[in-house]
Amino acid sequence: MLQQTQVSRVLEYWPRFLEQFPALPALASAPPASVREAWDGLGYYRRAANLQALARTVVSNGGVLPDDPAQLRRLPGVGRYTAGAVASFAFERRTAAVDTNVARVLRRAFHPRRANEATLWATAEALLPRRGRDAWTFNQAIMELGALVCTARVRRCEVCPVRAACATGRKVTSDK
Ligand code: SF4
Repeated sequence: MLQQTQVSRVLEYWPRFLEQFPALPALASAPPASVREAWDGLGYYRRAANLQALARTVVSNGGVLPDDPAQLRRLPGVGRYTAGAVASFAFERRTAAVDTNVARVLRRAFHPRRANEATLWATAEALLPRRGRDAWTFNQAIMELGALVCTARVRRCEVCPVRAACATGRKVTSDK
């Protein structure tokens, strides 16, 4: 639901959706029209179809969602970010999760001139703490940094906790 959609919007839908489909078997066996109806108004309806296809795949493979990012990526509708986010946030696996906010922070901090997606993922992976639980914290923290401090519209370098390690932040400070 959160793909291309803000949390505040998803909060209207998620509790209702979960009430109707409390676990993967319920979603897998539901008529597609009822899943589509539960999604009505949220947009990007392909996600609803993918989610049900995912539920059916997982249920037919024993009913357990894998915790490995590579296995997660083989499921319908799951890209690299979603696989990393689920593996890290749900299972505390040591894995990167680079969304738009994280990519922006990494670009500004380590690659201010330019960086492609592969470089940003490699940087995120190189920065990950060794323990999965700490990687969870790291992924949460860098996402929040991108959402609240290092946003697309404004960089709050003066109050940023990672300014000393950030190429852009150091430049902004030295230019003053
Ligand atoms: S110091 Fe500035 S550019 Fe660097 S991460 Fe913080 S807000 Fe972003």
